[in-house]
Amino acid sequence: MSFDQPLPSALSPSRLKDFQECPRRFQYSNVERIRQPATVATTKGNVVHHILEHLFHLPPEQRTHDAALSLREAAFDNEVTDEIQADIDWATCEAQMRRDVDAILTTYFEMEDPTAVAAIGVERNIEATINDAPLRGILDRLDQNDDGSLTIVDYKTGKPPRAGYENDAFANSQIYAALCEAEVGQLPRNIRLLYVTHGSTLDVPVSPVVVSARAKSAATVWQRINTFYADGEFPADPSPRNCRWCAYKDVCRERGIDVPA
Ligand code: SF4
Repeated sequence: MSFDQPLPSALSPSRLKDFQECPRRFQYSNVERIRQPATVATTKGNVVHHILEHLFHLPPEQRTHDAALSLREAAFDNEVTDEIQADIDWATCEAQMRRDVDAILTTYFEMEDPTAVAAIGVERNIEATINDAPLRGILDRLDQNDDGSLTIVDYKTGKPPRAGYENDAFANSQIYAALCEAEVGQLPRNIRLLYVTHGSTLDVPVSPVVVSARAKSAATVWQRINTFYADGEFPADPSPRNCRWCAYKDVCRERGIDVPA
């Protein structure tokens, strides 16, 4: 078999994660481009990201709680399209989602003061070829600290990781750090994950060794992606852990893969 569709032109952290969890999921999502229905959680996350992105497009002194609240309707209009409304049964979840978004904004303003943040990048697209692999990412925010160093900031609307799993939470951002170094010419000093639903922050210093290892691992994945693409099939890796929340269970079953219930 060979694919009619081209490979994506670059590997993003989310594509990398798809591949690492199950190469067949990467095939469905990124080669065949089979649409994944939206969920309430992803939709809420997109609405919150939209509000915070546009809040940081305002001059610093205007980034108030009231300004964030005034951005809600545009965020819902943009992020909750008719197709997404059908996916998530909007009539049944709208009121709760609006309450959740308001609560998240209240929590966010307790976590940091956006009027005091020197953001030099908001939803910034960065891409570079590293170790022969084309990598790409979108930074939620890139902040400049008082000493000129940089901080990568990533908003998270899900739960913070359990104790012992914190390193996994930073895996995507280590790729962002590698991209920053390649494109901006400066390795960020630290990565900050803002868990805006729960009001907690994870902060780690950037280690050049770890960033280099992540970039090498991404390059190895890119080589394997090209090999599987040339072979015409990405192997499925069914397991309760991988398949539990996968949107492609039915597609796999239709193609004869034994997916755990
Ligand atoms: S259902 Fe399981 S085997 Fe199929 S793509 Fe998803 S994770 Fe992979």
